Amino acid sequence: MKTVTVLGSTGSVGCTTLQLLESDPERFHVQALTGGGNWTLLADQARRLRPGFVAIADARHYQSLKAALADLPIEVAAGPQALTEAARRPAEWVMAGIVGVAGLPPTIEAVRRGAVVAFANKECLVSAGAVMLEEVARAGATLLPADSEHNAIFQVFEERNRPQIDRIILTASGGPFRELSFMEMGAKKPAQALAHPNWVMGQKISIDSATMMNKGLEIIEAHHLFAMPEDRIDVLVHPQSIVHSLVAYRDGSVLAQLGTPDMATPIAHVLAWPNRMAVEGRAMNLSEIASLTFEEPDPLRFPALRLAREVLRAGGAAALIMNAANEVAVARFLAGEIGFTDIVRVVERMLESAPMRAPGTIAEVLEFDAAARRATQTMLDEATPIRDSNGQDTIAFAAASL
Ligand code: NAD
Ligand code: MG
Repeated sequence: MKTVTVLGSTGSVGCTTLQLLESDPERFHVQALTGGGNWTLLADQARRLRPGFVAIADARHYQSLKAALADLPIEVAAGPQALTEAARRPAEWVMAGIVGVAGLPPTIEAVRRGAVVAFANKECLVSAGAVMLEEVARAGATLLPADSEHNAIFQVFEERNRPQIDRIILTASGGPFRELSFMEMGAKKPAQALAHPNWVMGQKISIDSATMMNKGLEIIEAHHLFAMPEDRIDVLVHPQSIVHSLVAYRDGSVLAQLGTPDMATPIAHVLAWPNRMAVEGRAMNLSEIASLTFEEPDPLRFPALRLAREVLRAGGAAALIMNAANEVAVARFLAGEIGFTDIVRVVERMLESAPMRAPGTIAEVLEFDAAARRATQTMLDEATPIRDSNGQDTIAFAAASL
């Protein structure tokens, strides 16, 4: 029996993880579940999976959650400390399924006690980078890539033949606006940006897929997970989302992992690792899919890819600033306050502010992240709404200062 904890169990990755746990109840015992604000779903999950501990980040829902579970022997807690406490519970395997840097404190808690951490929360690794890897090494923890592209690479990356690896190739669906001009994208509203052609995911990553900031974050994530330099990480647009990523070897062999566009497969891989488990209904029929196509990404329409590469070359706190500015800008876009193409403009402008040194500790990562968010909020609060020469509503902002 494997003991597991799911951080962010009420999200898209979290719900898929729970389905897998429930598919083989003899094999898994749940220690803790955490949610952000959806206490009704969290209560329902706790009733089904019977963890010893349940934590909700939004403390306003504590009483409701507690009352809903009053008849069960389940400890209930609320607030950010409760999330860290959930991660401290002695589960062998922890899914890091919270979205954004909000997931860093609990994830690092699981790392520090040497757990096997299934890694979906890319924002944590992008922001904490080398600091996170040092923590992993110090504690002897294991990071297993759960993001579909990184999981694909993990499955075909022959560590013993590392010197013979030429490059890794991340595939990208291209998102809902793959064929639009930059100007057409500018007019898109949240509902349109959220409608991903292949994947059903949380709101933040869906917007990141539309801007391709998700692929930018994934370049940085791949750099850290596989110790590959930026110039040996390629991105290839593959609209069918069947080939999840590839590793090219110096003998000309290119190894890829294929599967249906569904997080159940990569999550099952890291859940059963180093073994495998069955997942119902995920058999893939290539003759039905018939054709797989690939194209180069367009750096002009998707500047997020260029920004991510610049960020890796710049070092320091650039990746942390990119991530923090993007988290703030995506939330503002979802709230209808800025336009779609403003998201990447905000990130680019924030990256032009005075460079910050690299954080040296997790506490500094959180401190720098908070500063970068405040600076982004201030820049946006002071921005002037304007109508551009194409008649689109956008914003004009002054230089950012950190
Ligand atoms: P989601 O929005 O569906 O779920 C996020 C989870 O985090 C929820 O449980 C939510 O309640 C919780 N949460 C949100 N804010 C919180 C806060 N401030 N404090 C504590 N908990 C909070 O997101 P998702 O799509 O499941 O994505 C989760 C992570 O996995 C992201 O980092 C995303 O990039 C990554 N990821 C997702 C997918 C996917 O298919 N959804 C694929 C690859 C990687
Ligand atoms: Mg991905």
